[in-house]
Order: sequence, then structure tokens, then C-alpha cells
Amino acid sequence: MWSPDEIASICYNHFNKLPKRGKPEAGREWTLLAAVILLTDSSDQKTVHKQVVSLGTGTKCIGQSAMSMKGDVLNDSHAEVIARRGCVRYLTEQLYRAVSGQSSDVFCPGTEKGKWTVKPGVSFLFFTSQTPCGDASIFPMTGSQAQPCEPVKAVQKDESERRGLKRQAESELEETRPGPDMKTSDDNHSSCRKSGDSNQDEGITEIKECNQLNEVSDFQPDVKKVCPPDLHRTGAKCVPDGPADPLKPGLLYHSVGVLRVKPGRGERTLSLSCSDKLSRWGILGIQGALLSHYLQGPICFSAVVVGKGSYSHQAMERALKTRCSHVRGLPSGFSVRAPELLQASLEFTHNHTHTESKHTHSQGRISPCGAAISWSAVSQQPLDVTANGYKQGVTKKALGTLQARSLISKVELFHSFLKLVAATEDSHLPETLCGKDLRTYWDYKQAAGTYQQAWTQLRLQAFPLWPRSPRELLLFH
Ligand SMILES: [Zn+2]
Repeated sequence: MWSPDEIASICYNHFNKLPKRGKPEAGREWTLLAAVILLTDSSDQKTVHKQVVSLGTGTKCIGQSAMSMKGDVLNDSHAEVIARRGCVRYLTEQLYRAVSGQSSDVFCPGTEKGKWTVKPGVSFLFFTSQTPCGDASIFPMTGSQAQPCEPVKAVQKDESERRGLKRQAESELEETRPGPDMKTSDDNHSSCRKSGDSNQDEGITEIKECNQLNEVSDFQPDVKKVCPPDLHRTGAKCVPDGPADPLKPGLLYHSVGVLRVKPGRGERTLSLSCSDKLSRWGILGIQGALLSHYLQGPICFSAVVVGKGSYSHQAMERALKTRCSHVRGLPSGFSVRAPELLQASLEFTHNHTHTESKHTHSQGRISPCGAAISWSAVSQQPLDVTANGYKQGVTKKALGTLQARSLISKVELFHSFLKLVAATEDSHLPETLCGKDLRTYWDYKQAAGTYQQAWTQLRLQAFPLWPRSPRELLLFH
């Protein structure tokens, strides 16, 4: 009915057709891409119609100090998160169409008052051009990726020095990963690194640099010493108050299965890694608390497809499924779902690896693209390009004004939701929105009782250390 390559190809083509604004400069800048695909079975169930309903690009995440109490800044602009928020925008419009008597591609009336359900034969699939940052990115390098190099020495001794040196370099290094936030030069004190070869996953590798902190003069490729097995790594750090990474050589560098926060520009962020967010969406759905007022159950992905690049099925299973598979006691409509996990063999030509292979020195340093593109299948202003969490191109003076807001910011999605509520006839209003004095974004989220119960169970049983969003950041209206 569909293949991973077909999905990847649809997403790359969709990206290629978008205007240039916010796209990376070929050969110098790289980015990540993610998308939500609507799958609709044909009436004879022999074919499936595939439509990109949301697409996102982006590599950045802002630190705690840049967060806004007005809900008008995008905290997390990793492609996966941009694609999810664009999908919420799409779903809000589809619900608006449904409640106002127009045809919707997605929803039909549910059995409970004011509730809607996804039409039979309709499902959603998630595509991401790279393994999600965080837990899914941690896995042993395969035999073909192990490099002949000098065995690791005195890593512990180097650690404090390395950390001291790290601060300034961190913001840039952490964002110049081949995968989202994957450690490269900064972390490769314990291993050699291959780079500049677009065929690296086939193991046709070349060694461009080896262990900055070990003595490079010891490096004798012809001796064929073999590194101890090493891990692919993530720039996302373990959440506070939990177990930390051992940071030991090779396979003992990271803890696995733990929640992680994304790196920012030299500052800790409050944004969980994409692995963690995908895992949460797997149970709570992608629609968020607000739209759950209108839905009889969460909207979950039937499959997650990853583009060509470093990938481990086992790590994906652990990060996205196993961590939540034991959760019980979920409220009606919620259940432990298991998206199918697949990899495509087609590469995103703007990813880090490909960009590096096309890069020439005259172009200057390779860097992650600072802009994030959101496109969603909505009738007005489908394209929304941001940088640093605000509309790209706004002057400093305009920050905080209406023109600076992204259409997928919390406050804009909230206002779209309020328009949906206003368009709903009283007799068709969901019970959870009836007769209550709800004002702020926080009020509306808390009033989504079943969703909040599901989140409480998920948090208690699987993610007790998931940081809570500071309430003062959610009191806008
Ligand atoms: Zn990410």
C-alpha cells in the first residue's frame, strides 16, 4: 500500500516545491526535515491516497531565558516538533470545518456529545529525515563503522578539562551534528571519526580526524588497531534529578532509556528530546490537550519512517515503544499503541552528511540552518518561516508584537482553538467546555480531564522525571 521510500520521496518532493525562504544554503547549511502524512484508503481499499498535511524543518532550540510568558515564541524548533505543531494547525482547521457543517477530510461525528472521531480508513504517519535526537540516537556503531585507531586513554582525566573547554564551543558543536544533536568532534575523544563521505552507512569510510585529545601522533592506520566498540551519541543531556551519563569510553558513554533535554546555545533548555516527545505522542496522541476536548480518542501515528542515515531499529524500539509499553490504567479511548518503525533508503539532500560531501572550503564553515520552515495544509498562510522562535525577518523592535508571532506558536494555536469553540453551536459543545469559566491557555488545557488523566498515568509509570512546564509560562490568553 505504501513503502518507506515512497513516503520519503513524497516528503522530499514536497520540500523541494516550497519557496526558497528559510531553506538551507546548498553545500554550506544543513537542516532536518519531518512531516505528517495523511493516509486515506480508497473505497475499494486497494489503494491508499497519501498527502503531506504538515512539514517542518529546523535544528534549533531556545534556552530557558528566552522563553516567553505570552506563548508567542517557539521554544523548540527541531523539525519533528515543527511538523507536529503544523499538524495541530491542520487538525484545528479540519475540526472547524466539521463543526461548521463543511466537509472534513479527517473527522466524522463520534458517539459522545460534541466529540469527533477519525473517519474509517484514515490514518496518520510520521516521517523524519533522521533518527530523532535523544534516546533513539544512542546505539553501538556497527562493525563497518568501527574505525582502526588508537585505543582510548585517560578519558576520565580529560573530562573536567574537556568540560571547561567545552562551554564556548558547545553551542556550535552541539548543533552541528550529523544527526539531530549527535555528537561529533566534541565527543569523539574516545573514538575516531569518519566524515565527508556520503556512503558512510555502507561502511565506505575515510578517516578525517582522530581523537583530538589522544595523541594523534600515535595514530598508525597501517597497524590496524581497532577501537573498542563505540556508540552513536546524542547532544541531548539527561534530565536533572535522574541518573547522569557515565561518560565513559565506548559503549559506556551514555545511559539508555532515559529522558533527555535538548541542548541550546550554551544554555540548558526545557525542551525534551524528540525521542521523548515521539514516545509521549505515541500514547497521548499528537493533537495536544486542547483538541482532545473535541476528540473521542487521541490521534496517534500508525508508523514512523526515518530517512537514510545512522539508524538502529532496536534503539528506536526502546526509545519510542518499550519505555511506555508497560503503562496500564489509561482512561477510556487511550491505549498503548505501537507505531510500526521503518527506515527508508533515500537520503535528504540537505542533511549534514550530504551537505558535508558537497561542501567546498570557499563556502566558509558548515553550519546548521538557523531558520525553521513550517508548512501545513490549511487554507490561509500555509507557510510560516521562523528564526529564534519568531517570524523570520522581524526587527528586534517588532519582537513581542503580533507580526512577530509564528502561526504555530502556543498563543496562535490557542486562538485558532478559541475560534473553533466560538464556531461550535452550544448544543454541540463538548461537555468539558460547558458551563465553565475558562480563560487562560492553562485553564483550557487543565479542563481536558481525560487527556490529563492519561498524562498523569504515563508520567507516573514511565516518565516520572519529565520536567513540568512552569505554570507562569502558560497563563496567557
Ligand atoms: Zn530533535
